[in-house]
Amino acid sequence: NQLTANELRQKYIDFFVSKQHTQISGASLIPENDPTVLFTTAGMHPLVPYILGAEHPSGKRLTDYQKCIRTGDIEAVGDPHHLTFFEMLGNWSLGDYFKKEAIGYSFEFLTSVLGIDASKLSVTVFAGDDLVPRDEEAAAIWESYGIPRERIYFLPREDNWWGPAGETGPCGPDSEMFIDTGRPSCGPDCQPGCSCGKYFEIWNDVFMGYRKTAEGTYVPMDRKCVDTGMGIERTIAILQGKKSVYETEIFTPVIAGIEKLSGKKYGVEEETDISIRIIADHVRTSVFILGDPKGMAPSNVGQGYILRRLIRRAVRHANKLGIDHAFLGELAQIVLDLYDKPYPELVAHKVFIMDELAAEETKFSETLLKGEREFEKMLPNLLKGTSRQISGRTAFKLYDTYGYPIELTRELAHEHGFSVDEEGFKAAFEKHQEVSRSGAEQQFKGGLADHSEQTTALHTATHMLHKALRTVLGDH
Ligand code: ATP
Ligand code: MG
Ligand code: MG
Ligand code: MG
Repeated sequence: NQLTANELRQKYIDFFVSKQHTQISGASLIPENDPTVLFTTAGMHPLVPYILGAEHPSGKRLTDYQKCIRTGDIEAVGDPHHLTFFEMLGNWSLGDYFKKEAIGYSFEFLTSVLGIDASKLSVTVFAGDDLVPRDEEAAAIWESYGIPRERIYFLPREDNWWGPAGETGPCGPDSEMFIDTGRPSCGPDCQPGCSCGKYFEIWNDVFMGYRKTAEGTYVPMDRKCVDTGMGIERTIAILQGKKSVYETEIFTPVIAGIEKLSGKKYGVEEETDISIRIIADHVRTSVFILGDPKGMAPSNVGQGYILRRLIRRAVRHANKLGIDHAFLGELAQIVLDLYDKPYPELVAHKVFIMDELAAEETKFSETLLKGEREFEKMLPNLLKGTSRQISGRTAFKLYDTYGYPIELTRELAHEHGFSVDEEGFKAAFEKHQEVSRSGAEQQFKGGLADHSEQTTALHTATHMLHKALRTVLGDH
């Protein structure tokens, strides 16, 4: 089975249209009227008002594909299945069908349309707690489709409950679908959700039967809704028999580009692979942020800051691979070519995307180069110490004076067996905030601001640190 992303997108929409759903267009990556999150994180996100009761102009049964970004998954990037940007396929019932039909559609699509063997399917359902009862109903429906009890797992609220990022609103138990990769189980406790990778999550059906109140209680809604989300990248990886999303046709051209630029091969050495994956993921996400109809340029706040972090992290990892010239434009073009049909907005914003990427890349490279001398001065002291910890003061100095973001200090430190005194950094940061109140607002939305204008550091400093640490630690 070599179903491509484009084919899966179409099959999904066609299937739900055949079940009387209306296709709607996905929304912008920048949420409308929702200050609680920076990006659209799921297909249901733009539909919250309709789940709450507003009438949708397209009816009660909807389907679409939605661009999503999860900044909370940044640290996970590098693993086989967590991307910062991904596409979510979804179908919704707005006060129409509920669990029975929703699970029925999921089962039919997975087995009849995608041809997945039902024996490879494991599902999870909500185990219940003192606030909401156990979801025996969902379990019984799965059983009626031939999924035996042994492959129906009852999991607690942290795994099988879904609600929007805000405190109140529509929510409910969910049922996640996992495909057994056929890899050996890591032990008797191995179950869907286990990090060993035996079970690969591809789809989630959320039964929005409740509304959470400000008091923390769950009130059953008369008008029950269904929200589902299937990840395109993960699903095609499973269908194509690949070990990770990076081996599918939506990443292989980007990875080939990185191989060409760096002279390194993918799939030979773990550390190199992780850098390649991070670059591939971050470039793709950056293209989608810049190419959104509400596209944002890199900045020190909000979405722009996330974008800046992604670009800079990609540049740093490219540097690690030995890429020492501008490369973002070349990779961005590959991403544009892959997505010109489903996301024509990218093509429409091509000049903006390319200009902003090049500007940020140049700016960061210059910043890093300028920091070289400063960092060199700092290095001997760092290495003289007996502690394998970078002090909060040093981390803050790197951040405040030279523009080296704390995320990168942390990452770099970890790569060399150093930790960062995070508490010390926070203390230094807060002290600084008290002094310069004007910067305080920048701390919200997207983390710490970085003073790129007055800064320097890294890139070459990274090289310097790597080299010096290797000598000192005897790591070849
Ligand atoms: P995980 O447990 O693997 O982090 P999740 O439970 O957070 O996934 P959901 O919120 O249920 O994911 O989102 C629905 C679907 O979207 C998932 O089943 C998966 O296919 C896809 N998905 C979620 N997060 C990511 C991601 N970071 N990268 C790629 N696909 C994702
Ligand atoms: Mg997750
Ligand atoms: Mg999950
Ligand atoms: Mg899930």
